[in-house]
Amino acid sequence: MDHIMDTLATPALGAAALSQAHQQLSEENRLLREQMRDFLKQANDNQRIMSRHQNFNLELIGSSSFRELIETIFSTLASSSDLDVLSLTLIDHQNNLRSILHDLSFDLKEFPQLMFVANEADLGLPAQTSNKPSLGLYSAALHAKFFAPCQKKPLSVALVPLFRQKRLIGCLNLGSFHATRFSASMATDFIEQMGFIIATCLENVINHERLTYIGLTDPLTNVSNRRNVERRMLEEIARARRQQYSIACMYLDIDFFKQVNDQYGHQSGDDVLKEVASRIKAELRLSDTLGRFGGEEFVVLLVNTDLQAAAQVAERIRLSIASTPFFLSMSGVCNSTISIGIAALSASDNQGDADAIAAELLWKSDRALYDAKEQGRNRVCLAK
Ligand code: GH3
Ligand code: MG
Ligand code: MG
Repeated sequence: MDHIMDTLATPALGAAALSQAHQQLSEENRLLREQMRDFLKQANDNQRIMSRHQNFNLELIGSSSFRELIETIFSTLASSSDLDVLSLTLIDHQNNLRSILHDLSFDLKEFPQLMFVANEADLGLPAQTSNKPSLGLYSAALHAKFFAPCQKKPLSVALVPLFRQKRLIGCLNLGSFHATRFSASMATDFIEQMGFIIATCLENVINHERLTYIGLTDPLTNVSNRRNVERRMLEEIARARRQQYSIACMYLDIDFFKQVNDQYGHQSGDDVLKEVASRIKAELRLSDTLGRFGGEEFVVLLVNTDLQAAAQVAERIRLSIASTPFFLSMSGVCNSTISIGIAALSASDNQGDADAIAAELLWKSDRALYDAKEQGRNRVCLAK
């Protein structure tokens, strides 16, 4: 701009030169304004992106349950980061987390983008990933399994390994339909920081769910405790009412269990209790609930099951206990049998106060169990 000021300062300048200098000045002015507008727009865009991410981080940190966190990741992250595809793979040794989530009524089918693998090797991160996010073009050979649940495959991807105290717990899989969105040359600090926050929040909510689970589980047999069965019963009555199906309730009591304790000792009694629980569980579906109601008594809740179907399951349970001796950890074996009472709640009877319905269902199955004991034990009786 100096040369224009020089020109303006020259007294001998003609009118034409003056007008040309003026035009030049206006043009530079316009360009400067345009540049300023672009800067402002960019600053505003950056501000918006930062505030969206800040909101996302706050939402993540505020999630108090696994469900809330997963919902935040899949809904808020996808929109706040303009991602076209998004999935999450978690390492879950021996189905441990999935079984806890199931027992806490978390339906994994609701989140198809959430995947589980048994260990680090099965996660199959590309070798160069180590502990850094891996960005680049989508390759079916390298990335297909990370985006298996996504209908349309991305063109560029970022795989963000999730670590907690140097332990790999999973991988967040980001994808875009634009080939240039994620490229190997990009800085990854921002994505790494996001991965760190997500991993920390995941561990927090998983620990929280584990504690909840412990509060709902019988420590000897690892099946639900009475409180959990009662809670599940109310949930299942409500669901059965909505979906118009019947549910059945089994009350089970080990026969002459006092004699097992008296003859083989309390420790052996505990062995039998654990094995009975596991044999009952082996005959059930994942959607059924098994709980220890106290002492040597168990309750099973069978969803979408009528009285006759429940009777068949009960007969299988009875047989699996009566037909195979129990190995005792102190040495030796013992035989045992179980008596079972069953009641069912049909869709048409599922009306009114859920607490009262649950109490009646339990009472009827307990009455049927009493009949089974009266009729000689080691048998299944149906409620009248
Ligand atoms: P029935 O066929 O009439 O059911 O006879 P039973 O002997 O099974 O019934 P009873 O109610 O007389 O005895 C239940 C026994 O269960 C008494 C108690 O010592 C035992 N028991 C309760 N809880 C536990 C436990 O956690 N561990 C062990 N080892 N025994 C338990
Ligand atoms: Mg009893
Ligand atoms: Mg008994």
